[in-house]
Amino acid sequence: LERNPGETEFHQAVKGTFESLVPVFEQHPVYMEKGILEQIVEPERIISFRVPWVDDNGKVHVNRGFRVQFNSAIGPYKGGLRFHPSVNAGIIKFLGFEQIFKNSLTGLPIGGGKGGSDFDPKGKSDDEIRRFCQSFMTELSNHIGPDKDVPAGDIGVGAREIGYLFGHYKRLQGGYPAGVLTGKGIGYGGSLARKEATGYGTVYFMKEMLKGAELDFAGKTVVVSGSGNVAIYAIEKAQEFGAKVVACSDSSGFIYDKEGIKLDTVKQLKEVEYARISEYVKHHPNAEYVEDCSKIWSLPCDIALPCATQNEIDEASARELVKNGVKAVAEGANMPSTEEAIHVFQENGVLFGPAKAANAGGVAVSALEMSQNSMRLSWSFEEVDAKLHEIMESIYANAVAASEKYGKSGNLVAGADIAGFLKVADAMVAHGNI
Ligand code: NDP
Repeated sequence: LERNPGETEFHQAVKGTFESLVPVFEQHPVYMEKGILEQIVEPERIISFRVPWVDDNGKVHVNRGFRVQFNSAIGPYKGGLRFHPSVNAGIIKFLGFEQIFKNSLTGLPIGGGKGGSDFDPKGKSDDEIRRFCQSFMTELSNHIGPDKDVPAGDIGVGAREIGYLFGHYKRLQGGYPAGVLTGKGIGYGGSLARKEATGYGTVYFMKEMLKGAELDFAGKTVVVSGSGNVAIYAIEKAQEFGAKVVACSDSSGFIYDKEGIKLDTVKQLKEVEYARISEYVKHHPNAEYVEDCSKIWSLPCDIALPCATQNEIDEASARELVKNGVKAVAEGANMPSTEEAIHVFQENGVLFGPAKAANAGGVAVSALEMSQNSMRLSWSFEEVDAKLHEIMESIYANAVAASEKYGKSGNLVAGADIAGFLKVADAMVAHGNI
């Protein structure tokens, strides 16, 4: 705490993970002897930089950019870029720390990193977004590369922003460095099914959780928070599996459509018009709009998929969900449940899938995008989706196996942390960099 004052979310992420690792350290003293804990919490490198840009009226703005290169023991740094006014060093460090374990869980050779800026894309013109992305990449390009550090999207960074970032990197560096970013457009080196991967992956993971309890999606009522990239494709796959998704949100409020969310409208509003979710009720007057996004958790549901942001489910929301009969929760967003909320779910027998495992599908397909770029090949949607499905099944199986092996049976939080940690820790021991 003294070393990293004020980095609340980072402390929260580290505390949660270290609690899971207690039995591992008891059984394997080598990790303590080699100082793995002390090393794994310290990023290999943090880059913080100035991002000046000019708005449409000629006014100069200065934002702050970050890239944390947290751990490269098993592969090049890999993790998204977030553009949101709440971004600071503590947020980027929490996300980068989580990414180490998540990336390891995918079974693919990728290290942990994360980046972003406190720039707020909301209400900005397309030209302003482009100028900001170019200024951001002017500095970031000095630190990334296809074999070194490969960013992708996250909150506020979607296909449009990745296009501008890639275009500027290519211009600065020359050649065709396809593998430097993932989440690219299909026409210039992107992977089919990357856009869908995090949302679909979360639902595939939930399907495994339900199967373990002899349940499935058919006929279940589902609440999904957010209406961005992860939320949209989680809704799509849950509907395909026969669930009724009755609500989704943005940071202003949520919509409740008891007949089931019409996803085409949500896609049009969010992916095409960059509009607010409140507009949904203009198209579907039978739906309701409530101007408080946190109240979404007071809706009765069988399955909750938080897909918006960190700490969106607090203890009170978790209790409300339990009271209303929720059976299973899987985290599409990063750390959307507070520590207290997770305890409420676990103590009340709610199946709980933590972010590190449940939302790893996005970065897994990003790694598949890197493979396709290296091979100069493109796989079909079905091929990538099948690989994603297989990866999510194997993450679930590995988390269950690790939880059982280390005396935490049924606790997927511990299982995911342990399974993700062991591979990275063993590589760090083997490298002997002390
Ligand atoms: P988007 O920017 O596409 O969407 C984010 C959604 O969450 C928007 O609906 C946004 O509403 C809402 N939101 C953001 N901040 C808040 C807040 N403070 N309170 C309530 N709602 C909020 O981002 P993504 O869908 O890509 O990311 C969502 C989550 O999933 C994040 O936690 C991200 O780290 C995680 N994730 C994303 C991956 C990916 O592949 N994209 C991979 C793994 C994890 P508004 O428009 O009003 O801001």
